[in-house]
Amino acid sequence: MQGLIADIDLIEEEKSTETCGYKVSNEEEFGSKKLYIESYGCQMNYSDSEIVTSILRKEGFGTTSHVDQADVILINTCSIREKAEQTVRNRLNYFRGVKKRNSDVTIGVLGCMAERLKAKLLEEEKIVDLVLGPDAYRDLPKLVKQAEDGEKGINTFLSREETYADIAPVRLNSNGVTAFISIMRGCDNMCSFCVVPFTRGRERSRDPQSIVNEAQNLLRQGYREVTLLGQNVDSYKWSANENNKARLEKSEETEIVNFANLLAMVAEIDPDLRVRFSTSHPKDITDEVLHTMSEYENICKNIHLPAQSGNSRILKLMNRTYDREWYIERINAIRRILGEECGITSDMIAGFCSETEEEHQDTLSLMDYVKYDFSYMFFYSERPGTLAAKKYEDDIPLEIKKRRLQEVMEKQRQYSIERNQLDIGKTFKVLIEGRSKRSELQMQGRNTANKVVVFDGDYPKGTYINVQIHDCSAGTLFGKVVA
Ligand code: SF4
Repeated sequence: MQGLIADIDLIEEEKSTETCGYKVSNEEEFGSKKLYIESYGCQMNYSDSEIVTSILRKEGFGTTSHVDQADVILINTCSIREKAEQTVRNRLNYFRGVKKRNSDVTIGVLGCMAERLKAKLLEEEKIVDLVLGPDAYRDLPKLVKQAEDGEKGINTFLSREETYADIAPVRLNSNGVTAFISIMRGCDNMCSFCVVPFTRGRERSRDPQSIVNEAQNLLRQGYREVTLLGQNVDSYKWSANENNKARLEKSEETEIVNFANLLAMVAEIDPDLRVRFSTSHPKDITDEVLHTMSEYENICKNIHLPAQSGNSRILKLMNRTYDREWYIERINAIRRILGEECGITSDMIAGFCSETEEEHQDTLSLMDYVKYDFSYMFFYSERPGTLAAKKYEDDIPLEIKKRRLQEVMEKQRQYSIERNQLDIGKTFKVLIEGRSKRSELQMQGRNTANKVVVFDGDYPKGTYINVQIHDCSAGTLFGKVVA
């Protein structure tokens, strides 16, 4: 999982807060004390911020979107690229002014940057009172109390068990229709460019019954779509044994729940509850998962399958554990079992260490082969502590990285439009999420392939409607409601 936006776009990030990825909880919720929380990075981080809000709610904290009203300010950080960390430093500069106006406010840094830098963050950023890694959020109430007494706190212990399965997330910035459910934490893959294994630790899967319970609660609250979240959902594996993984191989009779099983369990809750998932890994996605998707109408037909590169030598340097041929075989399996309409999206990195022009062309030709609906696209950003930083020189000049990224983005734009044009004339079942961002006279929702559909009219959100497509752009389908 990498999941942000194209690096080149970041150059224009100041234009709208939305692009730089952070979200403030816009719920004004009443509690004796006030929490202000900002989240950066991937969906896992947004999901974690909902866990954090729930933990502090039990301590009497409400939430506020006004930073000057806050008793505690938390920033949940991403460390996937240098740029992401610089953005956090800029925010801490801004919070310096807030602290000047209110010296009693407690400021905490959470997430992957906290885990990567640990105590160094307290040394470098004097206004920071708390530093907590992704597995330490249960410790927040204690550390917040300590900070209120003037004592700085840190906990960056990475756990092999922690899944926060017993904590009901407080939905932040929710449209009341769609929600994320984290099904596992950590990652055992060691992609050479990635910090996640170091900042989120070893993989552990959450008890499937707690996931089904959370989805049932959401359904009762009116939600009609859940997205199952994990760095690599295909390696989800759970058994009743307390020490999950270690024993899995040994005791055959143990009931094991794999990702295909979990998908079916959630899909069987209610046919009106849509199920999506992210992120898949090419080496682990099985035909069993694809067949399970084809068996349930309410399991949405879209797969996020990051390729990262189209060249086998580069994939080897990235330690992705599959080559171009293996990836294409998985794409063929998706097309064979789920058809041409299944949405496929990817992550692409341009300009990885020693990438030649020919190898870059392999990435472009892979995009010609797959014709992705959408991709998250970046140029390579060396991250301290990763295998690539230790083993390979970051030797592709920035202007070449940017030019290659531009070519990947242009290629993607071409196929996003082409794939959407194929939908003109078709009718899709759309789950209505609310008013369109474009016009008060229009509504928007998404079809099973995770494409945004905009149409005229006024209909209740959280309901399904059939829409016939008559036009499109690279990012949106436009249609009219049909019976
Ligand atoms: S190590 Fe690889 S699979 Fe795991 S989160 Fe990073 S990019 Fe994704």
